Amino acid sequence: MAGLHPTTLTILCTYRCTAACAQCCFESSPRIRGRLSLEVMKRRIQDAVEAFPSLAVVVFSGGEAFLLKDDLFEAIRFASDLGKSTRVVTNGFWGRAGARARECARRLREAGISEINISTGVDHAKFVPVESVVHAASALADEAIRTLITVEADGSQNQIHARLASDPVLRNAIECGLVSLQVNSWMPFHEDAPSRGHDIQAMLPELVSGCGQIFETVVVTPHDNLSACCGLTLEHIPEMRLGSLSAPDVQMKKLYERQRGDFLKYWIRVDGPYTIIQRVMGVADSEEILRGVVHKCQACAILHQSERVRAALAARYKEFVEEVLGRFSLQQAMADVSCWDRRVSQDEEMVGS
Ligand code: SF4
Ligand code: SF4
Repeated sequence: MAGLHPTTLTILCTYRCTAACAQCCFESSPRIRGRLSLEVMKRRIQDAVEAFPSLAVVVFSGGEAFLLKDDLFEAIRFASDLGKSTRVVTNGFWGRAGARARECARRLREAGISEINISTGVDHAKFVPVESVVHAASALADEAIRTLITVEADGSQNQIHARLASDPVLRNAIECGLVSLQVNSWMPFHEDAPSRGHDIQAMLPELVSGCGQIFETVVVTPHDNLSACCGLTLEHIPEMRLGSLSAPDVQMKKLYERQRGDFLKYWIRVDGPYTIIQRVMGVADSEEILRGVVHKCQACAILHQSERVRAALAARYKEFVEEVLGRFSLQQAMADVSCWDRRVSQDEEMVGS
């Protein structure tokens, strides 16, 4: 099967975090220890660049990647020098004081960063004030670094999103496109999680779509394991773990290619876990199984963990193999053609210049 060409390497530098959000998917907190060393991060970036010519972006996430201090800037510089785009996902805690935020933004620019993603919202704000996010995004805009602020959905009001969208400090940066805002569903990890009043009907188009991460992203975890995705439920799905990168004689490419024979991953790519559950369980059962699901990765955990769903998958998957792999191949062919189109128009531009 052709088409396994990842474009993104995500390095989960540590699960340690300055915050301890109640619904954190990795249960991150300041108490968690352990991180990847600079040497290991560099080696994994080099391995990925050599193994996958398709690789375009290196993402640093966690936990809180900025807890790595100087090593984070050094790793960004290393990836940039190899010609890759770079992105850091952060909660923006380093924006608390304006001077520190400006210093951090300057160092990011000097290291060659391409983009920053800041996560915030009602739960985050108990640990990282929204003002820190504003300072951080403003300092990044001053260095002409693009920033996407992702806000947890907090009911129909989405007050923190509204507060940021109307912030006078950010207004110019938002207007000129250096700072963008988006709302993301905030997935409950514990049964006592308060309801966020999600509008499931509005979310359905996203919920029922295929997963863009699988095959597209290779993920190095803080324990130096290779994972098939960095979805919110990754540590709850053993099937996403591809193996230890620290084991003797192991090659990243070989670990990644273990997915080749896994039909469920092709299916997740094409249809997404929510739709797979609907298809194998039928309308009535899937309604009951998927009640309260607000995020694709939540459906993915159910797909892999529910005994009922696993039994139905085992009994019925052969009915879907031909059709799903056909659509996967078609998607890949379309992607290859558009890549080729882009190359041709680039060549034409060069001839014309
Ligand atoms: S800021 Fe992000 S990584 Fe840190 S505890 Fe909150 S959700 Fe988890
Ligand atoms: S839907 Fe599944 S495969 Fe996709 S990112 Fe979420 S957990 Fe990973």
